[in-house]
Amino acid sequence: MSEQLEKDNVPFAYEVRYSRRRTLALYVYPDQRVELRAPRGCPEHVLQAFLVERRDWVERKLQEFARRPPRRFSLAEPQPYLGHFYPLSLHQEPPYGVWLAAGRLQLRCRSPEEAPRLLAGWYRRQAETVFAARLAACHQAMAWLQLAVPRLRLRRMRSRWGSCSSHGSITLNLELIRYPLRLIDYVLVHELCHLREFHHGPAFYRLMDAVLPDWPQRRQELRALAGRMPPWPDGGG
Ligand SMILES: [Zn+2]
Repeated sequence: MSEQLEKDNVPFAYEVRYSRRRTLALYVYPDQRVELRAPRGCPEHVLQAFLVERRDWVERKLQEFARRPPRRFSLAEPQPYLGHFYPLSLHQEPPYGVWLAAGRLQLRCRSPEEAPRLLAGWYRRQAETVFAARLAACHQAMAWLQLAVPRLRLRRMRSRWGSCSSHGSITLNLELIRYPLRLIDYVLVHELCHLREFHHGPAFYRLMDAVLPDWPQRRQELRALAGRMPPWPDGGG
């Protein structure tokens, strides 16, 4: 069977993640992403065969997730900030804004319809301050690498936590502001390591091991927590 034919037998889009693992594993996520985790250097035809063997299972999963109604942002749900979940209190009177007080997120706005956008704006402002401070701290902790201080950008991203451009700027997913600082640091350190090692080769992981020895555990925590996160407030960024 030619490679093209085998690819035709995999009727869904998927993403391959190579790592130091020994076996292949397949994940299907509620947002319809299919992720194949594979040992580094695993030949393409082995990946294809693995996918073909499991195509029915994947399609069943994709259909199952497609049938579930999408979760919507709800003011009744506690909202996370730096890894803590805070109940919301809504007040329809000035002064308008968002405050973290008495263990609750206090939203003061004209109407409940305004609340999600108000909260999203608050997340963004917090992220600007917190991410810049963590970048400075992580950069400092890696001083021996003598990295140039990168430009930091924020935006919401669907399928990644951060990225690093070859021009030396780092983009962090705005949604990270809902996660604990140690997980924000993990993503920042990962992107900072890319300033020295652009690709996910052995040298990159040696660097990660040197800077943040418990990074695999943090990555695990990040994935687990991502599965429990409520929807982001508002449809925009
Ligand atoms: Zn990376």
